[in-house]
Amino acid sequence: MTKRDYYDILGVSRNASDEEIKKAYRRLAMKHHPDRNAGNDKAEESFKEIKEAYEVLSDNRKRTAYDQFGHAGMEGMGGFGGMGGGADSMNFGDIFGDIFGDIFGGRKSSGPQRGADLHFSLEITLEEAVFGKTTEVTIPTMVSCGDCRGSGARNGTSPETCSDCGGYGQVRIQQGFFTVQQTCPSCYGKGKIIKHPCAKCHGRGRSKQDKKLSIKIPAGVDVGDRIRLSGEGEAGESGAPPGDLYIQIQVLPHALFERDGKNLYCEVPISFAIAALGGEQEVPALKGRVKLKIPPGTQTGKVFRVKGMGVPSVRGGIQGDLMCKVSVETPVNLTAKQEELLQQFEKTLSVNNKHNPKTSGWFDKVKQFFDDMKL
Ligand SMILES: [Zn+2]
Ligand SMILES: [Zn+2]
Repeated sequence: MTKRDYYDILGVSRNASDEEIKKAYRRLAMKHHPDRNAGNDKAEESFKEIKEAYEVLSDNRKRTAYDQFGHAGMEGMGGFGGMGGGADSMNFGDIFGDIFGDIFGGRKSSGPQRGADLHFSLEITLEEAVFGKTTEVTIPTMVSCGDCRGSGARNGTSPETCSDCGGYGQVRIQQGFFTVQQTCPSCYGKGKIIKHPCAKCHGRGRSKQDKKLSIKIPAGVDVGDRIRLSGEGEAGESGAPPGDLYIQIQVLPHALFERDGKNLYCEVPISFAIAALGGEQEVPALKGRVKLKIPPGTQTGKVFRVKGMGVPSVRGGIQGDLMCKVSVETPVNLTAKQEELLQQFEKTLSVNNKHNPKTSGWFDKVKQFFDDMKL
């Protein structure tokens, strides 16, 4: 049986591109695949033929040899005997996986890759979270080299076409009686040679650089909020779009305030006398001082709400409140005179319990407790 011409088998011209050959192979391999033509011996034969033709024409070295010497050029080139015996050992499963992998995106595209996304965490104070701010951050990233505008060649020079391969990136080398095509050893397949590399990026065209960015932090952000800066990630390669930059917000603890959602909480110690007599107590708020009105008879643990002194909503809406939790402070380091006054004062209380609402309530509960035990 005379072997058919490989180009005829795939139905492509002799100067078909690699892409055309691949396309033709995929189409024919799908059509003649044994899994789709069960019991059809002819389909299996065709499939082997297609596979063999593709293995030769998709390989630059084998294709060159085939172009020059026809099927004779294939003798002795690993796996291909004159009658195509090597094709018998092929694995259908692998081939099918290959075809589908390629068609259904099983493989990564080899096109220019979008730049990487960058993630940074930014620590801000509670005040900055509440009022928002614009801050400058310095981010180490890959940027297109400014000195050579990404070309990799020193200023005033440009990459030169490789003289060994004429810019094709491939060279043909005479080996025995056939020509072998291989990657140009001078330019490593790039087709261009940078004689004077840019001193800054050493010819790479991209360089590590600290990028200064102005970031607007909206008023009301909270721990864990993420700000996205579109297109501020790493530069893409060969003109591909850049990635995005993500800033994760961290809020430092505050000496006076704790935050819960939109509300701020603080503890306010007040004197025993103010708690009893009532009065005004100055409390801190993020915007300054606020006068808190303490009514007479205020107990420890009472929470006063100062409206609108909390955190604004990051998406607009009503501002949160400041919650002030009062704790009555017991006076310490008393002088003899103060002690005497307090003892006198205490005596005036002991007539009945109407001055101590908590104590009287507590005694009632204790009495009930013991009464219950007697039963
Ligand atoms: Zn450069
Ligand atoms: Zn070259």
